[in-house]
Amino acid sequence: MGKGEDVGAVIKKIRHKKNRDIYKAARRVLVGGVNSPVRAFTYTGGDPIPIRRGKGSKVYDYDGKSYIDYVLSYGVQALGHANPEITREVKKTLDSGMGFGATHELEVQLAERIQDAIPLLKKIRFVGSGTEAVMGAVRLARGATGRNKIVKFEHSYHGHADYLLAKAGSGLSTLGLPASKGVPDDFTRSTLISACGDEKQIDSIFKRYGPDIAAVLVEPVGGNSGVVPPDIKYLRKLESLTHKSGALLIFDEVITGFRFHYGSAADLFGIKPDIICLGKIIGGGLPIGAYGGSGAIMKHLAPLGEVYQASTFSGNPIVMSAGLAALRVLESYKKEYKTIECMASHLGGEFKKQAGSCGIGLTVRHFGPMFSLRFEKKEHFQDFHRILLKKGIYLAPSEYESNFVSFGHSETDIKKTIIASEEAFALIARKEGRDGQY
Ligand SMILES: *Cc1c(COP(=O)(O)O)cnc(C)c1O
Repeated sequence: MGKGEDVGAVIKKIRHKKNRDIYKAARRVLVGGVNSPVRAFTYTGGDPIPIRRGKGSKVYDYDGKSYIDYVLSYGVQALGHANPEITREVKKTLDSGMGFGATHELEVQLAERIQDAIPLLKKIRFVGSGTEAVMGAVRLARGATGRNKIVKFEHSYHGHADYLLAKAGSGLSTLGLPASKGVPDDFTRSTLISACGDEKQIDSIFKRYGPDIAAVLVEPVGGNSGVVPPDIKYLRKLESLTHKSGALLIFDEVITGFRFHYGSAADLFGIKPDIICLGKIIGGGLPIGAYGGSGAIMKHLAPLGEVYQASTFSGNPIVMSAGLAALRVLESYKKEYKTIECMASHLGGEFKKQAGSCGIGLTVRHFGPMFSLRFEKKEHFQDFHRILLKKGIYLAPSEYESNFVSFGHSETDIKKTIIASEEAFALIARKEGRDGQY
């Protein structure tokens, strides 16, 4: 620092390098600089932004820049970041040790709280992630029915278990093909894939494979191919098809649980799946998964039954206390769910209008507090994403990921986002030599 040079400016310069330095260092030691692929921003064509901290609706990078966050740790932080009640509970629990591999009162309390909200879950098993919850649920369904085949839907995501990383085969084939290298054909052979909403196809799958089908696995509201609003009539069909054929219906509510109201999507739609998988929100920000169902089904699970599933970290008291605090606060917000739903639909509506008047092709889909954007041209998404980041708005780095409005978001956040998006659409239109009305 030279004499007379402004200290503030120097600090700013140093800080300004930090994002870049961290990402550079991350790429040296982490695969692609990340611990989960979508975080690499590959789809956006830009560099990811390392995030240092969060508070409420905002996250802050290492250069000190703030962003209104619609990623929310991919749907985890339903209350926004660093909710004081969750933080307080976690700190309190921390002082008593970090886990014992034995039953803890907090596990009982979280299970009771979840059961209160989702009465269908007579018995619950906690695990460490959504992936584990779905794996457990599928194994349980196979064990309980004595059948092997699983039906899942195209474009749905249920975690990274081998046999669920399956995509549809070509033509009329419903037999799954591996959707990732490293997954043997043998492992996806019992996974049948159907187009979601296609009644004829699911009928023919059941006609052909019915007696071998252990379960149908479905996200009641799609969240991993953009937002796919529910088709309740179709879900009802799945309920009756599985019921008639002796298969089980598994709702993967890892995203949807406690998302649209204080409870399950199943309840909201008046459908009774046999097993529900939970995750994300119910851990209050810490790693969690859970699955449950009736006593008659769950009794097949060890130690009561012969379906094995175990985990060192399951039911960790720190996680349980975070989850309990999160659900307690969410319950107190029961009436506010409508508010965040309105915010998301307002945002979606404005995006659509703004894009339209700039001649930019955009489809917005939303349900509850979730929304997703699909541009006609991928470059438009990339530009939009980059411009909004510059303006301090952090959207999911792919059109296939959902965005979320949390209880930490305010009307001001929404207004700021709408102002930023208006400018972004105008800039994109101008770049194309097409002046919007802005
Ligand atoms: C996130 C997600 C999973 C996987 O959960 P992880 O905690 O990432 O293992 C499974 N199913 C759905 C619907 C999800 O959104």
